[in-house]
Amino acid sequence: MGARRADPLRRAGAATFDDLLRYYPRRYLDRSTLTAIKDLQAGVAVTILGTVVARQFVSGPRGRGRLEVRVQDASGAILKAVWFRGGQWIGKLFEVGARVALHGKPEQYGRTFSLAHPDFDLLDDSTNLDTGRIVALYPGSQALEKVGLNSRTLRRLIHDLFRDHGRAIPEVLPEEIRQRHDLMDGNVALRAIHFPRDHAELGRALHRLRFEELFFLQLLLALTRGRRRAEAGPALAGRGTLTEGFLSRLPFALTGAQENAITAIEADTSTGERMNRLVQGDVGSGKTVVGVAAILMAVDAGYQGAFLAPTEILAEQHFGNLRGYLEPLGVEVRLLVGGQRKSLRETILGDIAGGRVQVAVGTHALLEEKVEFANLGMAVIDEQHRFGVMQRARMQRKGQKAHVLMMSATPIPRSLALTVYGDLDVTIINELPAGRRPVETHLYSEPRREEMYVFLKERLREGRQAYVVYPLVEESEAMDLKDAESGFATLSEQFRPYTADLVHGRMPPHEKDAVMERFKSGATDILVATTVIEVGVDVPNATVMVIEHAERFGLSQLHQLRGRVGRGADQSHCFLMPDFKRTAEARERLAAIAATTDGFEIAELDLRMRGAGDFFGTRQSGLPELRLADVVRDAELLLEAREAAFALAEADPRLEAPAHAATRAHFARTAPRSLGLARIG
Ligand code: ADP
Ligand code: MG
Repeated sequence: MGARRADPLRRAGAATFDDLLRYYPRRYLDRSTLTAIKDLQAGVAVTILGTVVARQFVSGPRGRGRLEVRVQDASGAILKAVWFRGGQWIGKLFEVGARVALHGKPEQYGRTFSLAHPDFDLLDDSTNLDTGRIVALYPGSQALEKVGLNSRTLRRLIHDLFRDHGRAIPEVLPEEIRQRHDLMDGNVALRAIHFPRDHAELGRALHRLRFEELFFLQLLLALTRGRRRAEAGPALAGRGTLTEGFLSRLPFALTGAQENAITAIEADTSTGERMNRLVQGDVGSGKTVVGVAAILMAVDAGYQGAFLAPTEILAEQHFGNLRGYLEPLGVEVRLLVGGQRKSLRETILGDIAGGRVQVAVGTHALLEEKVEFANLGMAVIDEQHRFGVMQRARMQRKGQKAHVLMMSATPIPRSLALTVYGDLDVTIINELPAGRRPVETHLYSEPRREEMYVFLKERLREGRQAYVVYPLVEESEAMDLKDAESGFATLSEQFRPYTADLVHGRMPPHEKDAVMERFKSGATDILVATTVIEVGVDVPNATVMVIEHAERFGLSQLHQLRGRVGRGADQSHCFLMPDFKRTAEARERLAAIAATTDGFEIAELDLRMRGAGDFFGTRQSGLPELRLADVVRDAELLLEAREAAFALAEADPRLEAPAHAATRAHFARTAPRSLGLARIG
């Protein structure tokens, strides 16, 4: 193959023969999976097969035209496909008379069904479905189409590959594992996934290849974990004077779960091995105290500590809290964030490097290469779900030999935890501080707004504070901001003499700070905000949370937002104010969140509704992408694969046995090098 074709193929993820074998079809076509256009129903995903009968570009304002293609199938009915983006190049592919397969969820306008941005495949006469064959369709792209690589040419390429080299394809799973789990031979499975004889064979092939994918992912985690465990970390001496001083000054008793977490950290850090622990606890479960105790154990032993937060607001809030806790103990705490003056920054950097700063609080800025610690002993990473595996790895390298404690307020289901956090030790804080009352959640619609306002006013009269949150999505940022701004204007007007403030992500940090500070001190009654307050903000006197356009938030996000209230002893309330006209399906989601305050339950639901890929964003997690397997759907298989992988890593951590040579070669070829964690051999 010449470079002209090889280059786009490489960029699509297939650089070698081996990659091409695993360039999996994204869909299959056979008679049993097709729907006739005359039988379409709105909102039900289908694949249709037909002929292009018309194609036109419809111009729109500001050069934003759209491409409309009409396709007719054997039933005689016609379907419209529409592209608002990419119409120019897609249009070229859809010549009148072309045979195409379209896949998507049709919408209905009058009598016409329409597909917006459907997945598509161009077929040719050789794609004869009458023979009962199952035909593989491959992921396409403009770059691939341009050089003539479509599903048909890819099928031919892969076919030739099997013909010429099929015998040389190695079995990458250890034979013993393959047999114990009753898995199809690798070679057979690969052939079957591209050229399945029937659905049963395809099913077996998928099962085998999904296992393989999960197995290698878990092997990466197992080897990473094993490697880390072998690393040395500072030997700390548990709770020293400072730690005890801090804990004894707290105005409350620790919950049992907090106590357990701190004990686990003591045990981890006393062995001379490096700790890598994740504390998972619902919002408001009191993770900060655990993090501070961990840092103080390091300071007690003469090391520095670092406290990392995902946003400046949160870093500053932690800084405020930590200063309150630590200054009375004589511990030197400093804040390092992006927007600081250069001279101040230089001084702080110098003090961190010189060891004069004992605890540094900051955002990602603390990850920057320029930040050198004199002797970092403990790095606490708060709200760790915002950091991917990559950033975690970077922090770990930066921390040289420091212990790492991660904290997450996003409870995640077990199957996902075993993947995203599969290399860590996990402690769960499943107990809220005593006396907390679960937030009452009210799902209101527009006609009840007045009622909600009356309720809100009563709470303000009692001296309580409230949040009113508006969504802010990047694509329509300007519009959303207007929403928040006009909401702010209305509230300021309607709620006089109570005072309101507005905070959003586009404000310069010092303005944000000033607003947050006023709210924390009680000077402002209502804080109108975009999602910047989502994580970690702690104002116990705020007992009402109003979420506007609630339908536009994800479940976990809503849970996080709701967690901003219910932090004091008083009963708190959360009002979801959705606009159901925009999305009817949101009703189910919002009803679910109104019905429970259990973060794990919500996470489980969120995962089921959004799918695992979306949950964390595979790219963000830094783990290799799962192309066939799905940790939710394949949860059972995941457990099997994990057990097999961890057993192998335990028995042969360098994969040196001759029986593991092919496994080792495949691992070395496919594991992400960028992680720099799990090098073998
Ligand atoms: P999160 O786990 O969401 O980070 P925080 O650490 O912010 O929770 O704690 C939430 C609130 O609960 C804070 O005001 C904190 O002071 C308080 N808190 C923490 N632990 C306890 C406890 N054991 N008893 C009572 N209040 C506590
Ligand atoms: Mg927190």
